Amino acid sequence: MANGFTQINFGTSKSGSSTPKMAEVQPISLESLTAEDLKDFRFQLSSQLQTTLEVDQLINILYRHLNKIVNVSGINYRCKQPSIETAAGRSQKHRCSYQLSMSKINYGEIIFTRSRRFSEKELSTIESIMDVVIFPIKNALKYQEAMTTAMIDPLTGLSNRGAMSVALTREIERARRHSDQSMSIVVVDIDHFKAINDRYGHLVGDSVLRTVAQIIQTTIRGCDACFRWGGEEFLICLSNSTASLAQVVSERIRVAIAKTAFLPDKERRITASFGIAHYDGESDWPELVERADDAMYQAKTQGRNQTVTSLVGNVHSDLA
Ligand code: GH3
Ligand code: MG
Ligand code: MG
Repeated sequence: MANGFTQINFGTSKSGSSTPKMAEVQPISLESLTAEDLKDFRFQLSSQLQTTLEVDQLINILYRHLNKIVNVSGINYRCKQPSIETAAGRSQKHRCSYQLSMSKINYGEIIFTRSRRFSEKELSTIESIMDVVIFPIKNALKYQEAMTTAMIDPLTGLSNRGAMSVALTREIERARRHSDQSMSIVVVDIDHFKAINDRYGHLVGDSVLRTVAQIIQTTIRGCDACFRWGGEEFLICLSNSTASLAQVVSERIRVAIAKTAFLPDKERRITASFGIAHYDGESDWPELVERADDAMYQAKTQGRNQTVTSLVGNVHSDLA
């Protein structure tokens, strides 16, 4: 195979639906396709593929364009790292697939399907445009990885403040639309953390932050999320939860932290203070976070190592 692409299968796969799918653009007979036409086609496809860094849009562009010269019912794309699966059109039983590889790096697999077998001429035409596709896919994967990395706090591996803003906006919107699915947030602040840094050094402080992050992550449910909100502050978003569930979760984390031996001096314990705010019709997440933050500061002034819930609206009855 040319250009490092490997056709790994085509012909009689039994998988896929049997319903025929109309192509978006009527195919032109391959017999009348000149070298000049193919050159034009490659140029147009390449120009269109440069308009986006989203993999699903690239596959849709490829699907629309390829159907001008070779009729395909569906295109599937999948990649292991980063994990992406996307499709355009509809899968059919006959397929040909290509591994997108360059300099020994794999950029995923593209599978073309349709209800009729592919002819040799069609296969060679598809293969001849794969080199136009691989660079945009490679760039899109790099972009996706960079976006994911930008959302992760490198010290703890938790999602960062940027990711938090996106997630909380979505959660508040969901809580507003579904009155039966409320949400709570918990602000966690490690007590006297500066003194830990001062006494044991920043590396020990860093390892405390990582362990607290792990304790939180192993305590919350899969549908919840924890973010590193500031230096020694974390924010937990509890989806579809009551204020009393938030209190149970918060107390579980507080006790787990207080029981853990973080430091070389095993007798010295670390504690944290917790502030809870339950969604009460706020229009945006900063209002909710402010209430949780105020509750957390109240926990500090009341002696630290405790949970305080911001009492407004429907929280009174929930906690009664
Ligand atoms: P309080 O109980 O009132 O919360 O006191 P505190 O000492 O925890 O709070 P303060 O805001 O005075 O200090 C927070 C400290 O967290 C100061 C800062 O150096 C430290 N810190 C922030 N980010 C990091 C980090 O990434 N690693 C380490 N080791 N320390 C950090
Ligand atoms: Mg703090
Ligand atoms: Mg603190």
